[in-house]
Amino acid sequence: MLKIKMNNYFFKYIILFSLSLNLLSENIGQPGELFAIKVDINNFDETTSFIKINDSFYKLVPLSYLKQGEYVEFNNSRIFIQKKDFGESRITITNNALVNLSDQDRERTIKESSIIKKALQSYSKEMMPKFDFINPVQGIISSRYGKKRFINDSPRSPHLALDIAAPEGTTVFAPEDGKIILIGNFFYSGNFIVIDHGRGLISSYSHLSSVSVSEGDILNKGQKIGEVGSTGRVTGPHLHWTVYYEKVRINPESLIKDGYLKTLL
Ligand SMILES: [Zn+2]
Repeated sequence: MLKIKMNNYFFKYIILFSLSLNLLSENIGQPGELFAIKVDINNFDETTSFIKINDSFYKLVPLSYLKQGEYVEFNNSRIFIQKKDFGESRITITNNALVNLSDQDRERTIKESSIIKKALQSYSKEMMPKFDFINPVQGIISSRYGKKRFINDSPRSPHLALDIAAPEGTTVFAPEDGKIILIGNFFYSGNFIVIDHGRGLISSYSHLSSVSVSEGDILNKGQKIGEVGSTGRVTGPHLHWTVYYEKVRINPESLIKDGYLKTLL
């Protein structure tokens, strides 16, 4: 009896062991997250970012929401991005002018999207991102990253940002050191700020009621950048917070989790 039991355990152990071997030989990650790959920093130039975790250096690879079910590569490593169901969000906008745009508004959004796109191409070599974010605003998460969106029942692009609802006028803080590279008032985003945290890590803040910084300002983490509002296309006051790394929109909520970097090891 004892022998059979032991064999059974042994068998289970073998299965678990071979499963974990498979996982090791094929890196797997979740869409919207970062994947840490150990590197030798002597092989790096000033154009790449790396991060020190527990005395070792890692390159963080952003796993794109838009590449679920595909592989991304870095050096000799391949990472498989799992498919994930993030749920959906349905909102109703009764002001038809905000849903079916006039020619004039459409022209405006095209111009604005090219201004924003240009800012997102920024790549400053002077700053090394720390990936050590604090929450930019005290509030309640009203829409998570990754949700499939429907406006008045028609499908839109997924919500690759974090919405934090808070009363109009609530302070918004820089969640990490950086430099203000764009301030604007846009059709969709309202009063809008873009911060460059260095080497491809960029964050943006939409729908602000006021802005308390200027383009070119160097920011310290925790510094006030503006206040929550409902400017642009919104259903109520909230901060729409987007984080880009190497042009991939990653999940801001993960970045503000305690000890996030260590969870990547
Ligand atoms: Zn949003």
